[in-house]
Amino acid sequence: MHTEQRTEPIEKAVVHVNVGPETEGGAFDLKSYLDSIKAGYHVVYDDKMPLVVAADNLVVWGASYMNARGKHHCLVGQADQTEAQWLDVYSRGEMELLAFGLALDCQKYGLEPRRLSVPEVHTPGVKGICGHIDVTNAFKADGVRDGVILDHWDPGPNFPWTLLTSRVVEIIGGVIHTGGTDNMKSTDQCDACVTKRLGRYILQRDGGVLAYGAGAPFFGSYPGLKPTPAPLEMGKNHAVSMMLTPDEGGYWILMFDGGLYSFGNAQFYGSFQKDGPGFLQLVEDGIKYAAIRRDGALAHPR
Ligand SMILES: [Zn+2]
Repeated sequence: MHTEQRTEPIEKAVVHVNVGPETEGGAFDLKSYLDSIKAGYHVVYDDKMPLVVAADNLVVWGASYMNARGKHHCLVGQADQTEAQWLDVYSRGEMELLAFGLALDCQKYGLEPRRLSVPEVHTPGVKGICGHIDVTNAFKADGVRDGVILDHWDPGPNFPWTLLTSRVVEIIGGVIHTGGTDNMKSTDQCDACVTKRLGRYILQRDGGVLAYGAGAPFFGSYPGLKPTPAPLEMGKNHAVSMMLTPDEGGYWILMFDGGLYSFGNAQFYGSFQKDGPGFLQLVEDGIKYAAIRRDGALAHPR
């Protein structure tokens, strides 16, 4: 495995999957394989342990165009795993260890605990997490450079990114407050998430606010509503939207029936007419707020 001295800061933690069987001691097998080739990673994972194969102050050849500023984490497995295969016991073990590895990088190097967009991966100075596929997509548009063909697509289309990055956020910040049931494992189903630098708010249907990470201080919530499954009807209320104040020192929570709750430094300017088809989303309206109704109309507080 080729290594060289690192001269630039670490900006991106890159997730890989290297084709290999999910076996006992898979990380050692992968390390032995790396000994025989030029490509490499910093840490490789099987279901039981992370194995550091290169120190952070060394550059490894993990992904073309993201070697100098990348730290490379590799799981044993297959990039064509199905969603179900990513949730099997072996993969869950790997993912948990990887989440801790990434959380450590976020704290050490100031990376944002989220998957960067492709343009962000391309942009120097933007710090966060990405997959090898994102590096490929970010740089292949530049055309072939130095004869390098960018065609790696790991960790694969079914890789559970939300699960992973949610767990990283959880590890970094711990749970500051839970104003309802902790359903961190099913964030895809939450009605409203606000992701910030080093933090994330999740508004739950029962009005509870989960605040994760140092960048998302908890200002209060309105738990205790009985969440109702879709389709929504008037009379079956639940929380639908939250919006941060401009200086992020507080937030507003909008209920389906037009009720409005303010927390932190968020001012209360009134709630919304409790009739009609119900409400979808809070939006900015000068220093105040407005709400989009389910029929698309914009409503103002009264
Ligand atoms: Zn890769």
